[in-house]
Amino acid sequence: MSPPGNLSSHDLAFDVALREAACAARHTYPDDDTRISRALALIRAGHVTLTAQGALVKSGSSPRVYTVNGTCQCQGYTSVAGGRCSHRYAVSLSHKAQALLPQLHFATLTRQDERQAWGDLPGIAVVEGERVRFYAEDALDAPPLTIHQRMRCPWLVLGGNCGLALAQATADGTGTAPAPSAGDCV
Ligand SMILES: [Zn+2]
Repeated sequence: MSPPGNLSSHDLAFDVALREAACAARHTYPDDDTRISRALALIRAGHVTLTAQGALVKSGSSPRVYTVNGTCQCQGYTSVAGGRCSHRYAVSLSHKAQALLPQLHFATLTRQDERQAWGDLPGIAVVEGERVRFYAEDALDAPPLTIHQRMRCPWLVLGGNCGLALAQATADGTGTAPAPSAGDCV
């Protein structure tokens, strides 16, 4: 599953947050892998609308729209373990991804390519305590690179916080996150 091309910077950050949330869900419920993948597809297709009362999730296979608020009206809800249907996963992963955004930073990794030439790789860094996972912007489907902060890695530079960038973009009504800026070395 590839993200749509030409992601804006905050769409990119949200996609990485979704990948992190999905990874945690798969770790907890490995048997739900297929439904978690379906949930990601629903979110990326814009089928999830979060509201103050709950959420509306458009079915991926029919014109139906389900109201999801702890329960779901789909057939799967009553037949799958714990009622964890793809629609409930879509809502839960959307919320978790939003909550993860403050842990994400725009970042640049400087590295050598296969021709031994040095270059800057833009991406998103997920900061979790002492560990940082780096997702390269042009290789989101590849496993993230894990870097330990205590190594004081000189080739990873953290920029703006993705949660702040999204909040700022929303407050401005521009819908566009500010350009990443260089920040402290990890
Ligand atoms: Zn459902």
